[in-house]
Amino acid sequence: MASSVVIQGKTFERFLSEGEIQARLQEVAVQIRAMHQEEDVVFIVILKGSLFVAADLMRACQLDTPLEVVRARSYQGMKSTGVVEITMTDTLSLKGKTVIIIEDIVETGRTLQAVHHHLKQFEPGHLKTFSLLRKPKALINPVPIDYVGFDIDSEFVVGYGLDFDEKGRELKDIYRLRE
Ligand code: 5GP
Ligand code: MG
Repeated sequence: MASSVVIQGKTFERFLSEGEIQARLQEVAVQIRAMHQEEDVVFIVILKGSLFVAADLMRACQLDTPLEVVRARSYQGMKSTGVVEITMTDTLSLKGKTVIIIEDIVETGRTLQAVHHHLKQFEPGHLKTFSLLRKPKALINPVPIDYVGFDIDSEFVVGYGLDFDEKGRELKDIYRLRE
């Protein structure tokens, strides 16, 4: 487990270890179970970055829920373009269900808000949100995040699903850009 990695010529230092991430996911999973155990829950993963956290969160929750995906894209390199494109492969049956959106990181909140808005048309009974990471100082669109893993500073991070131009996703720890 290296304390720093170089991706496309930029150095990133280790910030959250695999152990810290998994321990926090267990805590949040206990909350989610306590709140939603009796409900008809569907997890919706925002591709692609959230795949990794969704797999671990789902197994930690042990609610035996269906899993659906949406694709949302706003980032190019290290910058958000400000426009969120949403694509869905399926017409989902979410009516009356408790839908929990799983996001890897919330920066301005644009992506999560766009997905939240998009899913409302399917008339879920409850629409909840989870994000592994949140950058509170960068938040512009105050979409409610019901479950948060960690609040972090407004810095660029990679690993555990989060990429820098498609690199770094497979790292088990999370790393931040060294200035
Ligand atoms: P927002 O729409 O909240 O501004 O940004 C959310 C999306 O931008 C996330 O789903 C993620 O794909 C990307 N993003 C935001 N901050 C970071 C970051 O620090 N690292 C990486 N790899 N992606 C980020
Ligand atoms: Mg994302």
